[in-house]
Amino acid sequence: MATIIDGKAIAAKIRGEITAEVAKLSQRGITPGLAVVLVGEDPASKVYVSMKEKACKDVGIFSDEYKLPVETTEEELLQLVDKLNKDPKIHGILVQLPLPKQINTEKVLEAISPEKDADGFHPYNVGRLVIGKPLFQPCTPYGVMVMLKEAGVELSGKEVVVVGRSNIVGKPVAMMCLQQNATVTLCHSKTRDLAAKVAMADVVIAAVGQPEMIKGAWIKKGAVVIDVGVNRVGEKKLVGDVEYEAAAARAAAITPVPGGVGPMTITMLLYNTLESAKRR
Ligand code: NAP
Repeated sequence: MATIIDGKAIAAKIRGEITAEVAKLSQRGITPGLAVVLVGEDPASKVYVSMKEKACKDVGIFSDEYKLPVETTEEELLQLVDKLNKDPKIHGILVQLPLPKQINTEKVLEAISPEKDADGFHPYNVGRLVIGKPLFQPCTPYGVMVMLKEAGVELSGKEVVVVGRSNIVGKPVAMMCLQQNATVTLCHSKTRDLAAKVAMADVVIAAVGQPEMIKGAWIKKGAVVIDVGVNRVGEKKLVGDVEYEAAAARAAAITPVPGGVGPMTITMLLYNTLESAKRR
């Protein structure tokens, strides 16, 4: 059976390191600050935002919350972003997605100062990642890279197969693996013979959003499997994008769902905010 890469334990370790660094910075009179902006009443977004606020509090990061009504105009939101860009207490700005229909998401993300873009979604930061000189790296793929490092997985020269090409997970994680000298194959819904692509991977990174669509039998013996997917099945059960039991029987190491990549995302948001404060 595969070794389980325990995201909760890795996240707890990194959060401990962040807490210590925040305390050190505070002694120099700098408290890292994260502004979290929520527009509307989306229930999942509300949960994410309160988790982010609590996580900030736990490590000593100052969090400034803005809960705006669903009818907020694009102009009003842009004005708030502008104010936060200029606020010296704020080192990271996070606008929770999705935004209501009347607001152009791209315009808002591009209005955030690239130097406070804690989510790493601004095209400037995307570009920096592509040229191998990252400033802010997007939190979920960054979390995947930290997990691989903590699990002692060396990527240089390895075959990495990423399934899913979203801007928030698949594409950036592919770039990050390339930067670590892996040979990367990026698969998507038009990829032919996905099973054969996955079967050649030393490391499989799944970010598809379809329950257990990557079959355990496709996994090469001894491969490492990182499952980013979070899919609700029935009332309460969460499963990943990989058929866990069958994959774990073949893999050398695997992330569970829940308790794998999930806890790393907010951890890397805290890390990005801390790093931003240190850069000032
Ligand atoms: P997304 O934007 O919906 O992208 C899904 C990707 O999967 C697309 O590139 C799509 O291809 C590809 N795809 C869909 N069906 C496929 C198939 N049958 N074969 C191959 N590729 C297929 O999703 P996302 O935002 O990247 O999220 C992916 C999963 O990760 C979701 O379960 C999400 O909940 C989870 N997630 C977790 C975290 C976390 O913190 N743990 C954070 C973010 C996301 P096309 O581009 O061709 O359509």
